[in-house]
Amino acid sequence: MFCPSFTFTATAEIVPWLGASPVFVDIDPYTYNMDAEHLAASIEMVKASGKLNPKVVIAVDLFGQPANYPAISEIARNHDLKLIADSAQGFGCTLYGQHPSSWSDITTTSFFPAKPLGCYGDGGAILTNDASLAELMESLAVHGKAMPRDIAGRHFDHDPKYWNVRIGMNSRLDTIQAAILLEKLAIFPDEIAARNRIAARYSEHLANVAVSVPEVISGGVSTWAQYTIEHTRRDDLAAHLKAKGIPTAVYYPIPIHQQEPYAHFPSGPGGLPVTEEKAGRVISLPMHPYLEEDAQDLIIRAIRDF
Ligand SMILES: *Cc1c(COP(=O)(O)O)cnc(C)c1O
Repeated sequence: MFCPSFTFTATAEIVPWLGASPVFVDIDPYTYNMDAEHLAASIEMVKASGKLNPKVVIAVDLFGQPANYPAISEIARNHDLKLIADSAQGFGCTLYGQHPSSWSDITTTSFFPAKPLGCYGDGGAILTNDASLAELMESLAVHGKAMPRDIAGRHFDHDPKYWNVRIGMNSRLDTIQAAILLEKLAIFPDEIAARNRIAARYSEHLANVAVSVPEVISGGVSTWAQYTIEHTRRDDLAAHLKAKGIPTAVYYPIPIHQQEPYAHFPSGPGGLPVTEEKAGRVISLPMHPYLEEDAQDLIIRAIRDF
């Protein structure tokens, strides 16, 4: 399974659970998302070595912006690989007006409170345009319960509700979380617009100071899960902002391929130089749809002072 290393660990975590091996792919230096050329080279490398059997690509919509789906899905298709979109940070993002699920077999997302569409606890969803896959996933999420296609044409002396036809799991979304999400979903487009206004304002005022400001892929709309700049003295900048009461965060200081449980899994050819460089330089600023201009000005001024 091919996935970036510059992402939250959850992206790669499922792979060893299934007895498979992640193969880490480097990122594009401007969007922080999977580098399509390095993906292609990584697939060729794995095929040539003959040790692993390529199955799936997991692209990530890091910081809220869509991965390069046209290029990635074409590579996946050419190699007969499935494509999963990890849109935990990018739920609501678009590329040429289309959602990641236009290109992916499955899109996963998270409603953890820190995500753009957060509930008040834990929650998540899986999206697919494949009706039979949707039915299978619904069955798996409810302990392998029988679905209409399992039941069709059979006779039961009892209620087939407790007829379990596969090994599933408990992956229900809490009703209370769903109720909260329904309300928040109604205002979500406005919140994405507000996040984009705030990001544009940050970029306008920070572009000419000694940092790089984020770039969104051409044709893309980000949900701005994070607004992330780069600085060569990242940790000093974080301390400077903290002293002024401005919280920041680093996503992600340790790429997955350098985390101990994952260190033995392979990376694509040439390693992951972009990932490793970015991990030492990125810093994310306060970002939410209700960040007022005064507060934003304070943050901008503090960074310019530094
Ligand atoms: C948050 C996140 C996840 C996992 O979300 P959970 O709610 O813990 O399931 C997966 N991938 C990425 C990129 C994330 O940011």
